[in-house]
Amino acid sequence: MDVNSDVMYLQGVGPRKAEILKKEANIVSCEDLLYYFPYKHIDRSRIYKVREVNGTMPYIQLKGQILAFETVGEMKSKRRIAKFADETGTIDLVWFKGLKYITDKYKTGQEYIVFGKPTEFGNNYNIVHPDIDSIEDTQQVASGLVPFYPTTEPMKKAFLHSRAIQNLQYRLLSGLDWRLPEILPSYILEKTRMVSLSQALRNIHFPESAELLKKAQLRLKFDELFFIQLNILRTARARRQKLEGIVFEKVGDAFHRFYKDCLPFELTGAQKRVVREIRKDMGNGRQMNRLLQGDVGSGKTLVALLSMLLAVDNHHQACLMAPTEILAQQHYATLTEYLKDMDIRVALLTGSTKSKDRKVILQGIADGTIQFIVGTHALIENTVVFASLGLAIIDEQHRFGVEQRSRLWIKNKKVPHILIMTATPIPRTLAMTLYGDLDVSVIDELPPGRKPVKTLHRYDNKRADLYAFLHQEIRKGCQVYVVYPLIEESESLDYKNLEEGFKVFSEVFPEYLVCMVHGKMKPKEKETAMQRFVLGEAQILVATTVIEVGVNVPKASVMVIESAERFGLSQLHQLRGRVGRGTDQSYCILVSSYKLSNDTRKRLEIMVNSNDGFEIAEADLRLRGQGDLEGTQQSGAGLYLKIANLAADGQILQYARNMAEHILEEDPDLESDMNRLLQERLKTLFGREMNWGRIG
Ligand code: ADP
Ligand code: MG
Repeated sequence: MDVNSDVMYLQGVGPRKAEILKKEANIVSCEDLLYYFPYKHIDRSRIYKVREVNGTMPYIQLKGQILAFETVGEMKSKRRIAKFADETGTIDLVWFKGLKYITDKYKTGQEYIVFGKPTEFGNNYNIVHPDIDSIEDTQQVASGLVPFYPTTEPMKKAFLHSRAIQNLQYRLLSGLDWRLPEILPSYILEKTRMVSLSQALRNIHFPESAELLKKAQLRLKFDELFFIQLNILRTARARRQKLEGIVFEKVGDAFHRFYKDCLPFELTGAQKRVVREIRKDMGNGRQMNRLLQGDVGSGKTLVALLSMLLAVDNHHQACLMAPTEILAQQHYATLTEYLKDMDIRVALLTGSTKSKDRKVILQGIADGTIQFIVGTHALIENTVVFASLGLAIIDEQHRFGVEQRSRLWIKNKKVPHILIMTATPIPRTLAMTLYGDLDVSVIDELPPGRKPVKTLHRYDNKRADLYAFLHQEIRKGCQVYVVYPLIEESESLDYKNLEEGFKVFSEVFPEYLVCMVHGKMKPKEKETAMQRFVLGEAQILVATTVIEVGVNVPKASVMVIESAERFGLSQLHQLRGRVGRGTDQSYCILVSSYKLSNDTRKRLEIMVNSNDGFEIAEADLRLRGQGDLEGTQQSGAGLYLKIANLAADGQILQYARNMAEHILEEDPDLESDMNRLLQERLKTLFGREMNWGRIG
């Protein structure tokens, strides 16, 4: 057997279990099994006496013999009890399932180690469903640190519980003749002073000591992050070399004129810096792939406009693509307003553009007389042929899939520069992993004079106060958003809550117009309701999160978020960004039930205390782990992490990235003998995806 053998041939596996392992845990080869890591270790170095047992202990172990078995109870409450004793006393071991199996497996009069959590039962203690090992078995783990493996229901049904996996690992590790090939060149091992791969894998499962366990974790986390970084950075390099960018040589009349005559306010320092970064990027002969991050309200639109002007100055077209029709319309309105004194032709193309207009617009795009095109997905349809697209800007990227983005760039002979704008701040560590091949610009400064949104947390049972407050604000001329959660799993109930909420608000505010928007409405109806709010005819908009992205209604200065405990932090922040766009003091009111878990209370507290999107995103990452974070689902294969944790391992990630950068600096194609191992490992890990046509 070696690490590449099918796990089916490992003693104790066989075809049926192999199938489950594959389906449930993606384990096919022995190597896969070795890389199936425990999620925790429990220290079993101490053995307690029965006399010491009390009801407040966590997991403990006892050493002794089973004196006798008995079966008590009927039907459902039928259970098997073993009287277990050491020299200090007797305790009951109890099973509700697998009764026959238990009696067959364990013999009276033999010495066992019993592991489990004692609970008080009458005047006595018992341990329900304990782990029982023979004395020899427990010697698998010299340090007493016993591994615990993640398992699923089907795995458990097939007797592949944590303990069984542990046995398989043990068999594998003691059976392999330990020539598991190293994957890092020796110069890296020397430099980093990390343990060898064999040592790491052995110790991650069966630590010889707590210290070696730490070293094993470090080594395996480093490996995981390092190869992701190496892959991303190398791909980025290859793409840069291969793709000739359209060179925007000059800053011309359009840019200068706008900057001098039409800019209604001074740019913030951050906006200036970012425009410089983009300008440099588009002028250097390489194709730009840049992610522009900026908190809601930080002024990304203006940066987009200035970049588009650079395209015009260099005789190219620019397009701005938004995820929804409403957003596209708003962008179009903003751009035409900014450009009203300039000689630039701007068009709007969306799904609802009338066919007569569409024909004219498509013609203008094809012959180059239209320079700016704002639109939705409609922009990537095949009928849209650009005369010369120089820059494509994508707003709120998390609404677009990777595929849609790459379609934009196939449309051209030469790949346009690409700027992706997002208001979902992504923590640095995550950005490095997800978008490591994009350059990142950050607008980390809000325009001056903004009053920060006041965020309040209120309980559901105090609604009268809430309504009184809303009355007062609406009387001052403000508009109010009321947002309800909508989650797939509880969709129909959520819709019911939304409709009920709409009814209640209509009743409580009879003198005002209340309208409603949600995803199940026909686009036309949705549009109409939204427009009434945008135009100020309606004072209250009851909605699902469809309003989350980018809508700008300056008079709407109050946002009420119902069942706020059900939203993620990033989403709450995103929603909050819809208010605070005008000059009035604005409010975000988080309404939750009174009963909250500690974590949830903490999350809402963070919202009340912080207005900083990055801070919130970091906190979100810490509280929820990377798996749930918005944006990670579309990241593809790269981000399924087995051991590293982006929230906790930022330093290791940075270190790994620096190392990868340095190595590629010296040896861009990893051709030297020294780096042969790296080359091979990349092929094993990412071989099938070595397709850099997939950008962003
Ligand atoms: P976002 O980054 O969320 O897309 P916008 O581009 O919509 O932000 O800008 C938010 C508001 O801030 C707009 O009303 C815009 O006119 C205004 N704004 C942008 N830049 C500045 C600036 N430098 N000074 C003052 N106001 C600005
Ligand atoms: Mg915006």
